[in-house]
Amino acid sequence: MPADPLKSITILGATGSIGDSTLNLIRQHPQKFKVHALTAHKNVRKLAALAEEFQPEKIVIADETLFQENQALFTRYKGECLSGKEAIKKVAAEGDLIVAAIVGAAGLEPVLEAVRAGKVIALANKEALVCAGDLIMDEVKAYGATLLPVDSEHNAIYQVFDFERSESVSKLTLTASGGPFLTRDLNSFSSITPEEAVAHPNWDMGSKISVDSATMMNKGLELIEAYHLFPIEVDQLDVIIHPQSVIHSTVEYRDGSVLAQLGSPDMKIPISYCLDYPNRIETGAKKLDLAEIVQMTFIKPCYDRFPCLKLAMDALKIGGAAPTVLNAANEVAVEAFLHKKIKFTDISKVVEKCLERSDMKAPQSIANLLEIDEKARITTSSLLTELRMD
Ligand code: NAD
Ligand code: MG
Repeated sequence: MPADPLKSITILGATGSIGDSTLNLIRQHPQKFKVHALTAHKNVRKLAALAEEFQPEKIVIADETLFQENQALFTRYKGECLSGKEAIKKVAAEGDLIVAAIVGAAGLEPVLEAVRAGKVIALANKEALVCAGDLIMDEVKAYGATLLPVDSEHNAIYQVFDFERSESVSKLTLTASGGPFLTRDLNSFSSITPEEAVAHPNWDMGSKISVDSATMMNKGLELIEAYHLFPIEVDQLDVIIHPQSVIHSTVEYRDGSVLAQLGSPDMKIPISYCLDYPNRIETGAKKLDLAEIVQMTFIKPCYDRFPCLKLAMDALKIGGAAPTVLNAANEVAVEAFLHKKIKFTDISKVVEKCLERSDMKAPQSIANLLEIDEKARITTSSLLTELRMD
């Protein structure tokens, strides 16, 4: 039988921003890709529309009750409808390429399933690497899986990193846009609203990562992500604010050469790189016109403005359970901020306190790591209650 010329794609977190960009590329290249499975958390309507359009073999809704209540939406879909966490883990091990685009630590176990099936994984879900980097990378080696970074900075580095001569790399610098509050008066930070925080100047993203960009926790998480993805020491990692988001990160070599990937700030570019790696495809993204940019600026980050970045850098240096705790506390705090339960400036305070109250002993297994994650979430919730009583 001739091999199927189409690459089959499973998208975990298909209803989000990364899911949108991935499906946009698949729509543009029907002669190259087909959808094997799509998963979503709660957005049943959007998933039903995508199921009808792409007719994948399987779709999964994480929320079992919503699935039961909305069966009627899927009458024009011919494939298999599944629900629950276990079903997401099952489809994570199916397809030629897995796009891991669930937000938060909720994506960890599906990523692990994909790794253990030896898959090629286009990894957007940075929180999985932040909370379980050592364990995931051990499994990647053991099962011969391939991680291709979707995150624009890591994708940029991946494109110019000489893996065969990694000792010749002297520094990785992640570029950051600085988010919407780069020049806002620091005295007004406590009155920042969720609406202001999610309005990112350059990128159109999900609400959690948008808040992380506004606090610059995102860049901190990305430093931890870079530490696991590339053979590099902690002190060889750096961050620079570059508000135009044209240079997506740089790799400095010991001879003084600096290599970088440039492009319009459009996630279709790094996603396409992963989808058809090592080939390059048309994306429809705006081509870069250097003359139009006129000026590129670079600023060192200020920790008074962005304390979350410092907390993440410290967590990376401390190691052990610190990144797991940092990530869990941040997820809970960001959720509370988005629901207007705490102030923008409380996010870093809550994360810092949670780190102080937590044990830093390194997780010994995934089960142990999930316990640490859960404990940090409980600690953060009680810190939120304490904040409200102040
Ligand atoms: P989003 O909020 O737009 O979408 C998240 C997706 O995950 C949705 O499909 C949602 O249904 C699913 N999901 C959420 N919680 C879930 C749960 N508990 N169980 C199962 N599914 C769940 O987020 P996004 O902006 O697409 O980001 C996805 C990931 O990619 C994040 O880790 C983010 O940091 C990373 N990332 C995003 C961008 C971007 O431009 N959006 C860039 C770089 C990295
Ligand atoms: Mg990024």
